[in-house]
Amino acid sequence: MNPQLQQLMSQWLAQQPNAEQWAPLLQSLTTPAAEAQPQPDPGQLRRLKLQAQRQARIIASVADALGACQRCIGLDPACPLCGGHGHPGSHGGDPAVVRRWLAPVLVPERSGIQPATSC
Ligand SMILES: [Zn+2]
Repeated sequence: MNPQLQQLMSQWLAQQPNAEQWAPLLQSLTTPAAEAQPQPDPGQLRRLKLQAQRQARIIASVADALGACQRCIGLDPACPLCGGHGHPGSHGGDPAVVRRWLAPVLVPERSGIQPATSC
């Protein structure tokens, strides 16, 4: 707070008959916001940043395999990277990786898909 304004408020407060009721307000106005708010733990911030970077690498590898936008996998119509056109298959992809990932899920008894028969 501006020191002159703070001095004026203190003078005004000193003249008030029940000044004590205004003390919390004056205190909140004179306490800098940085002191009033708890500071984030630098170690926790570093861990969260590393976790976010790991998540971004995982998403990027999935996007590469799917041939989708690495930022949104085609889920964000307002994506600044693909403009909403980064759906799976839009950038190529790696069918072998996708088949390897999906094979455990697509077992016939779980998916209802009949296994291919060879001639
Ligand atoms: Zn995108």
